[in-house]
Parts: sequence; C-alpha cells; structure tokens
Amino acid sequence: MGADYMCISCRKKTRAVNTAHNRNKWRRNMDLFEYATELEYGELHLKTNPKTGLRAIVALHNLQNGPAIGGCRFIEYDSTDAALNDVMRLARGMTYKAAITKLPHGGGKSVIIRPPNLTEEQRTAIFEEFGEFVESLGGKYITAEDSGTRVADMDLISQKTDHVLGTSADAGGSGDPSPVTARGVRHGLEAAVKYKYGRDDVDGLRIAVQGVGNVGWYLASELHELGAELIVTDINEEAVQRCVDELDATAVAPDEIFGVDCDIFAPCALGAIINDETLPQLKCDIIAGAANNQLAEERHGELLRQKGILYAPDYAINAGGLIHVAADYAGKDSDWARTETERIFDTMIEIFERADADELPTGVVADRIVEESLFG
Ligand code: NAD
Repeated sequence: MGADYMCISCRKKTRAVNTAHNRNKWRRNMDLFEYATELEYGELHLKTNPKTGLRAIVALHNLQNGPAIGGCRFIEYDSTDAALNDVMRLARGMTYKAAITKLPHGGGKSVIIRPPNLTEEQRTAIFEEFGEFVESLGGKYITAEDSGTRVADMDLISQKTDHVLGTSADAGGSGDPSPVTARGVRHGLEAAVKYKYGRDDVDGLRIAVQGVGNVGWYLASELHELGAELIVTDINEEAVQRCVDELDATAVAPDEIFGVDCDIFAPCALGAIINDETLPQLKCDIIAGAANNQLAEERHGELLRQKGILYAPDYAINAGGLIHVAADYAGKDSDWARTETERIFDTMIEIFERADADELPTGVVADRIVEESLFG
C-alpha cells in the first residue's frame, strides 16, 4: 500500500490527512475538487498569459468574515501542483490567522510562478497584469507582499487596482509589514516567557534565531535592545555577519541551530522545521518565531508538549504583518495597529492556559478557537 500524500516541505510521504496538517500535504494524483473540499474551500482563480509569462493563482479559502487579505508569493516552483498546493495551504492559514486575530477578513493568498531568467521588464509586465487580475476579482481579494515580492511590486499592482496593500508611502501605502510582524512575535515571545518563567522581561535570556532576513533581523534587533543574548544562523552569510557586528550575536551553522542550548528558539526562516529529525535535538524551553507552518506534522505539537517545550502557534504569533496591512485597508492609524499587535500577548496567554487545562498541544487549541468562531 503506497502513501497518498506528501508534505510539500519535507517530502515525507504519508497516508493520513488531518485537519491541521493537510496545510502541508499534497495528494499525489489528486482530485482537485476533492482536495479543495478537504481543505473546506472556497474559490480558486487562475490567470495565464504566454506573452508576458504570467502564471498566477489566487486562492480564496473563506470569505465569511470579510474580504481576504493575503500576500502574493513570487518564487520558482518545481511544478504547477506545487504552486497550487502552496497557495491553497497558505490561503487556509490566512483564514486561521485573521480569525484568531479577530480581524474582519477572510483567508486568501496568491502565487505567481516566477519564470526562470526573469528580466526587470518582464517583472514589470507581470505585476501590472497581475494587478488587472486582482481588479477583476472585485475586491474580495486584497493583495500585499510575501516571499519574493517587494514594495515596488505592490506599487506596480496599484497602477491597475486599489485592492493592494503594503505599497510605498509615495503610492499612499504603509510599506513593508515585516517590522510589525517582528513586533508581534516579540509580544508573543514575551507572553511565552511570562507563562513559562513568570518573568516580565527577556533580559539575559539566550535566544536562538533561525533566519535573520526581514522579520528575523527586526526581531533580533528588538531582543538585543531588551538585553537578550542572541545566537543566530542564516544561509546568507552577510545577514549573519550584520547580527554579529551590530547585535553582539554568536553565529552558528544552519544545521547547528536546533541543538543550541538556549531558553528560546525563534524560527524565522522556513516551514516544517520541527520534525522527527530536529525535535530530539532541541534544548529550548520555548519556541516562538515568525515562520509559517513550523510543525512538519500535527503530532509534533504533541511531542513538544511531552518534552515540556512551550510552542507559540505560528499563525497566531506572526499576525502582526496582517494587522499592519488590515489597518491600512480600514484607514486606521498606526496606534490602532500597535494596540492590536500588542493583543497577540493576550491571545497567546489564552492559548497556553487552555492547552494546559485541556492537556492539548497549543497548536490544536489555536485551531479549535478558530474553528469554534468560524464553524460553530
Ligand atoms: P526573508 O526571506 O526576508 O527571511 C528569511 C531568511 O531565512 C533569509 O535571510 C534566508 O536566507 C533565511 N534562510 C532560508 N533558509 C534557511 C535555512 N535553511 N537556515 C537558516 N536560514 C535560512 O523572509 P521574512 O519576510 O523575514 O519571513 C520569514 C518567515 O516569516 C517566513 O516563513 C514567512 O512566511 C514568515 N512571515 C513573514 C511575515 C512578514 O511580514 N514578512 C509575516 C508573517 C509570516
């Protein structure tokens, strides 16, 4: 009997699909409608143009609470199936993120399959055309930055539609959401510290940060300001060196970060990094970071619980960026966004308390809170 599903991140094959982890799985020889039903979809929209090279997918998972805000990912994919799976699980994650944050938004996301050997001219044509695609959806999907897209791309999109956020100040937008995402992660991390250690500060705590790109850098900078001792890694050596030079961080190799003896592990790079291989190496008390889909499978949440590691569920702790662009959408000011981002602390405490009371992994509790509010 062969396996029916494969994790898109770690390529592990499995027969089972469960509520939380079909985010990560893709049925081989899948029936698209069957898969969409399993994920409780929703709508899928495609646009292609061989002249510009545009191949775009917009996934709208759930519009019950309002129009969907979700970033546009622009990366190369091994196959169309991989792109489709990525956008479908990401859009579903946005439904959960908006719901746990109590924002009046549904869940949606888009991917544009990045053509190889892309020129700047082609990039411009693709993003302008993508703007027309977003416009054609009439406002039920609002796009923003994600992996591979930048503020300048949002500005191009804004020439064709108003349904875009994260544009530059010149284009009337609030720019890169990463600093606010990092601020939210900091609040969630502080909640975990309060819950685990009964402390109100991170002064002197050892924090291992995996990935010091946009969010990881801002998070590391804030934690350094607060007196934390940093251990960092990244595949980008310049990014690591900047942390060593400016934040007194200690650098370790990418595969060493899991075994670092520390209080807190903050994953800010990739998904599926808590898995069968890495979990036995962990020597931290808390996992609190920005990366999406950190657990390779739902059972890893239970294994963390058994190990006594407090896990801050990813979509709840990294919601600051969504709050930032949602504020922009609603015409609210940065004070509103700051207050809402601070509420991540309370959300996290609620999750931790309920997880302990019900003897459940924190990720399962976060899913339940969302599903109770969305599906009764
Ligand atoms: P980024 O691309 O700027 O940073 C990611 C960093 O991880 C890069 O520096 C990259 O070199 C590094 N990296 C990649 N593979 C690595 C590996 N094997 N080991 C160590 N480092 C590695 O992305 P970002 O915007 O900072 O986002 C980081 C994570 O947070 C992503 O998972 C993203 O989905 C999530 N997230 C980001 C935002 C946001 O506002 N940017 C919001 C919510 C969630």
